[in-house]
Amino acid sequence: MKNIVWFSEGTKDQKELLGGKGANLAEMTSIGLPVPAGFIVTTDVCRQFLENQQLTQPLVEEIIRAVATLEERTHKSFGGNQQPLLVSVRSGAKYSMPGMMDTILNLGLTDQTVQALAANTKNPTFAYDCYRRLIQMYGDVVKGIDKSHFESYLTTYKHKKGYPSDQSMVAPDWQEICEVFKSIYMEHTQERFPQDPLEQLLSAVQAVFRSWNNPRAITYRKIHKIAHDLGTAVTVQEMVFGNSGAASGTGVAFTRDPTTGHRGLFGEFLACAQGEDVVAGVRTPRPISDLAKTQPEIHAQFSAIAELLENHYKDMQDIEFTIEEGRLFVLQTRNGKRTAKAAVQIAIDLVSEGKITKKTALHRLTPDMLDQLLHPIFSPESLAKASPLGQGLPASPGAAVGRVYFSAEAAVSAHQAGEKVILLRQETSPEDIDGMVVSEAIVTSRGGMTSHAAVVARGLGVCCVAGCDQLAVDSFLKQARCGEVIIQEGDYLSVDGTTGNLYQGALSLVASQDFGLLQTILDWSKERADLVVRANAETIEEIKTAASFGAAGIGLARTEHMFFGEARIWPMRQVILAETTEERQVALSQLKTFQLNDFKELLLQTKEQKCVIRLLDPPLHEFLPRPQEYEEMAKRSGYSLEKIKQRIHDLQEVNPMMGHRGSRLGITYPEIYEMQTAAIIEAALQASEAGSVVYPEIMLPLISIPEEMRVLRERLETYIRQIFAHYQKEVPFKIGMMLETPRACLLTKELAPLADFFSFGTNDLTQMTFGFSRDDAAGFIQRYLDKGILSEDPYQHLDKSGVGQLMEQAVASIRQQTKGKAIGVCGEVGGDPQSIAFLRAIGVDYVSCSPYRIPAAWLAIAQSAS
Ligand code: ADP
Ligand code: MG
Ligand code: MG
Repeated sequence: MKNIVWFSEGTKDQKELLGGKGANLAEMTSIGLPVPAGFIVTTDVCRQFLENQQLTQPLVEEIIRAVATLEERTHKSFGGNQQPLLVSVRSGAKYSMPGMMDTILNLGLTDQTVQALAANTKNPTFAYDCYRRLIQMYGDVVKGIDKSHFESYLTTYKHKKGYPSDQSMVAPDWQEICEVFKSIYMEHTQERFPQDPLEQLLSAVQAVFRSWNNPRAITYRKIHKIAHDLGTAVTVQEMVFGNSGAASGTGVAFTRDPTTGHRGLFGEFLACAQGEDVVAGVRTPRPISDLAKTQPEIHAQFSAIAELLENHYKDMQDIEFTIEEGRLFVLQTRNGKRTAKAAVQIAIDLVSEGKITKKTALHRLTPDMLDQLLHPIFSPESLAKASPLGQGLPASPGAAVGRVYFSAEAAVSAHQAGEKVILLRQETSPEDIDGMVVSEAIVTSRGGMTSHAAVVARGLGVCCVAGCDQLAVDSFLKQARCGEVIIQEGDYLSVDGTTGNLYQGALSLVASQDFGLLQTILDWSKERADLVVRANAETIEEIKTAASFGAAGIGLARTEHMFFGEARIWPMRQVILAETTEERQVALSQLKTFQLNDFKELLLQTKEQKCVIRLLDPPLHEFLPRPQEYEEMAKRSGYSLEKIKQRIHDLQEVNPMMGHRGSRLGITYPEIYEMQTAAIIEAALQASEAGSVVYPEIMLPLISIPEEMRVLRERLETYIRQIFAHYQKEVPFKIGMMLETPRACLLTKELAPLADFFSFGTNDLTQMTFGFSRDDAAGFIQRYLDKGILSEDPYQHLDKSGVGQLMEQAVASIRQQTKGKAIGVCGEVGGDPQSIAFLRAIGVDYVSCSPYRIPAAWLAIAQSAS
């Protein structure tokens, strides 16, 4: 095993061993670019070092031999009095972690060699500038002396001298600074600044190895899910000097704009400066285009190299370069970091330039990039200045700013007065819908990813942060407390639904919408996709949005939302309170008129495509009148107040989510499902009369007993036949069921022949498999995540080992029993890119999700298909 690899020996594919920086320096050397000579101490050595906390003697000897070789190659001598060789010692791991680990420049300078450098270059200003940089960097990285000790002295010095910048400093100034820096070094370490170049080098190598484990590097790896045992390589490289005069300088450039993705060199340059000055912001760099005026040949040479590198790596490059006395050197290249928009733009452009295939382009993107393209975001500048007030679940992406209101009514009237509003509630319920629709964002202090607020917000494409448990919401006092901060009605709040962060005040927003780019990626994804994406949608608005994102029909239209609103809620209440079937029929026939229209619109909007309509699912009490409405209810129904109270009391349930809902309602009150079925079928008849081809598919929720399905199916089918007979006309229809209880999944063998299609409701299935209440789980799931008991929230990402296992065997058993029956997924994880690969693998035919998640779902399918 080799411990040391020369640039001339390595390739770009050895990132694991040489680190990204080292591997690319090697690659650039072998394709003939001007790279200062050097060698790489491998990550293997780093891992050994971190274990033993020391360099072995053979390794030390190997490094000494490598330095000797470097001396020969550069015709310079390390620690020498004639042509002193200086080197940088650079960190670089497999994955780039910009600025997280350490690098030291100008190693090899001592009181002796600095004089040689000064004499040699006839430039003492430059030589002592290098030396003071070394003392500071070495002090910081090797000895942990805070940079500020050095910097504040330098600032005071310049101030005293009346110098506007470092540029005014001359040799005696830097000489004096070097002396002071050495004494600062001494003060903190009780040691002299090392005068043996080899000691400097070996200590630097060890310090860079150690920087793998500095706190900021560890945090960065946690955030980016990078393994902690990879280690960093160390690159030892001959120094070239951008600070050696006016014809020298240093810069960083991207081959395309990292914000917009547009083609063309984009970067910054500083004349007479060394490496870190550009990032450190000591002076304001100039745009790289300036170089075209001052040093046109260098600019042309660099442009050619940039293009060559981009073509070689077939991706946008981020390149570090230095000019020493009119000679150009390349010091680093890597695939450049970029915004979501730039990533999509660059992927598309590289395909049209013939550099990569569509498949490669799709794999370069992540599904959340498409999410980001659809929603506005906070400007990076305003985010840099803000610190989050609190954090909840990122329930619906996007960013929003508005004034806080604590009730739907207040939100609506503020909206009517022209304000942008944020609805802040403990949790939302169906009655809040009017307020939710007009809000820029919805924030709740309780509830999870499948809470009412989250589900509705995603459907609407409204930003939402759910379950922010640091918030104590008092809607009566119209205020919320978050730690020390009190939020009053009308206060500005900024909400980031992509990260879950809340910020006090109004951050600035930037639109990142770019539908043209999105369309191209959608088209390419659909070409490769081998299962389809349908929409969870019921309003015209949602269906249109879904269609524009390429939805292949509707996978779930929820009918419960169709019973709210003044005109419908009262007959609905009448249905529930009715004592006799006859009474119920009267109210139902009123509702049927509405439903018929709803379904006709729905079917016409999705014509030619499958449209799954789910019959009423929620617990009945959600529709009941509130105490202040009892009076009116009594008037409208003719029942006594007493009777109404009694009936409502009877209908209360201890655990409504597991109570009288779904197909259980269909069994106990068959008239409700018959009314809905009649409305669907008559709507379909009317639509087909008008010349449209429609495919209504009726779905029964929450089945867990085959007999439930048999009874309901028979009853509805008989009823449909009667309708056909009455109209003397037929339309194709299907009756299917949801698979959302563990029992249904276990009994698919019996259920398979009873339904025409199946759809997994993963929200309920997760709730019942874990026994985690959907409405209450957010609080303790967070603690489970913190403690590492769960690695993921099962409502966000499908629990493959438990819920997934039930699903997998259910699909297999349905496929064994019957052929050609569609199996889909309409729960939340149907739109989760991370879950999609698994769903595809177990063989479902489609996933269905809320409209704004459709693009990411298509991309996730395309990525896992090829
Ligand atoms: P980082 O990973 O933080 O960018 P680098 O190892 O790339 O750290 O080095 C920091 C700065 O020093 C960069 O601007 C780089 O170009 C410059 N630098 C590194 N090695 C040399 C060298 N041998 N000669 C001149 N400049 C160098
Ligand atoms: Mg760098
Ligand atoms: Mg359900």
